[in-house]
Amino acid sequence: MDNCIFCKIVRGELPADVVYENDNLLAFRDINPLAPTHVVVITKKHFTFLDDLTEAEIQLAGEILLTIKQVAHKLGVAGAYKVVTNCGERAGQMVPHLHFHVLAGKKFAP
Ligand code: 5GP
Ligand code: ZN
Repeated sequence: MDNCIFCKIVRGELPADVVYENDNLLAFRDINPLAPTHVVVITKKHFTFLDDLTEAEIQLAGEILLTIKQVAHKLGVAGAYKVVTNCGERAGQMVPHLHFHVLAGKKFAP
């Protein structure tokens, strides 16, 4: 995906404040944080959104969840964070590359 912002970050063509990386996933601080801790965990492979994942990605799907937990622990917010993925423009998705927001450090509305 030549023009995808997050693919460019994965390829190192755009800078990012990376907090965690493994073979399949990358986590970096959001450029416009909505909370004192706000990182996005993205797949290195381009998927547009959660609806694109299939049974073929069952292992990746599990890895995403456990990596989010690991990132939260690394950032010192274990037990005190929120995870959000916006699936589609009508849900507020601005970057069409699968990602999960990890937010912590402020009181969120229920
Ligand atoms: P969405 O609305 O698609 O769920 O969230 C996309 C997020 O990516 C937004 O919170 C936005 O601030 C963040 N974002 C957009 N472009 C960049 C960028 O170039 N670098 C970083 N670190 N975050 C970005
Ligand atoms: Zn992409």
